[in-house]
Amino acid sequence: MENAIIIRYCEIHLKGKNRGFFEKLLKENIKRSLKGIKCDFIPMHSRYLIENFDDSDYDLIVEKLHKIAGIHTISKALVVDSTFENIFEAAKTLVAEKEGTFKVITNRADKTFSPNSMETSRLLGGKLLELFGKKISVDVNEPSFCVYVDIREDGKSFVYTDVEHCLSGMPVGSAGKGLLLISGGIDSPVAGYMTAKRGMKLDCIHFHSFPYTGEAAKEKVIELTKKVGEYNGGINLYVVSFTHIQEAIHKHCPEEFMITLMRRFMMRIAERLAIQQGDQAIITGESLGQVASQTIESITSSNSVVTMPVLRPLIAFDKIDIIEIARKIDTYETSILPYEDCCTVFLPKFPAIKPNLERVKKAESKLDVEGLIEEAFKNVEKYVF
Ligand code: ATP
Ligand code: MG
Repeated sequence: MENAIIIRYCEIHLKGKNRGFFEKLLKENIKRSLKGIKCDFIPMHSRYLIENFDDSDYDLIVEKLHKIAGIHTISKALVVDSTFENIFEAAKTLVAEKEGTFKVITNRADKTFSPNSMETSRLLGGKLLELFGKKISVDVNEPSFCVYVDIREDGKSFVYTDVEHCLSGMPVGSAGKGLLLISGGIDSPVAGYMTAKRGMKLDCIHFHSFPYTGEAAKEKVIELTKKVGEYNGGINLYVVSFTHIQEAIHKHCPEEFMITLMRRFMMRIAERLAIQQGDQAIITGESLGQVASQTIESITSSNSVVTMPVLRPLIAFDKIDIIEIARKIDTYETSILPYEDCCTVFLPKFPAIKPNLERVKKAESKLDVEGLIEEAFKNVEKYVF
């Protein structure tokens, strides 16, 4: 009797002719994630199997599988040679730790196995009741647990009781590449996670304002980027100095447009970097109406300087729902650490909530936009996680 983990995938099933492409990507993503852990990875029909791992690595493997987009469910199973006695032994081991109502569900791919599926379930259920009748009883409609028996064509059978839900979504890399604008806040890491979950491979860009923002603020962003990277099969972070741009805006433009103009620079620089890196979209953590810079007028103003699609997965999310996801992906506690962000450094007392695009452009005309962008590009730091 050996331990195995069954991995099932989801929407990939629906992709018709592209199925091979999605399966290959998912397979590569799982293999990459488990690199360095001793185990065998076996592709099977419509699922994958992990075998021959040390029991002490089980939790680590499960933790990693929970971060791979495209995996729908997993089960820890016992694998036995297909005889009724072996199957019963495995079921006995699993049910010894259970109580409540149950039913047995048998799936017989090997049609030469006798008895048939119905009969196997019936006999197995009966024998389990004989043994554990004091703490379990049968309920075929709403059982508190199931005993699953998969009799494979290759002479082996799986027996398991638990089906754990994983991320679902699509394999990372199946939906192109995008550049995430990541700040030290709560929203952008969540936006990145959600986009990665739908299959987009991410790069990240962060703007910092040294010396106005310190090393600790940058470390915080690095920490958040790494967390997002766990769902992305690794990640690149580009850190761009924003100090001169902010100083120039502060010096030459009306205070009310500070944030609006900063956003326009961020978008321009992001688009340029995205093109360089082969990213096909820009992703932000904006949510409609959350702050002054996220009114439709502000979004119109920052959007109008780029032609690349800008994805805003959180646009219609309430903060409370964003926080729930941030907690789930373990970015929340880092995000709320109290370090300054480049946007808070030159925060105006009364920012324009509904900036008029013509007035914004007029304010911006005081600046050497191209020169400032060129300069920012001279000192891009790259981190690979
Ligand atoms: P977040 O929680 O993601 O910081 P926020 O609610 O604080 O968002 P803003 O500060 O208005 O909102 O930022 C809106 C979006 O602009 C962010 O979600 C992020 O995508 C991008 N952004 C803001 N500041 C930076 C920065 N310093 N570097 C890179 N992107 C940034
Ligand atoms: Mg922010």
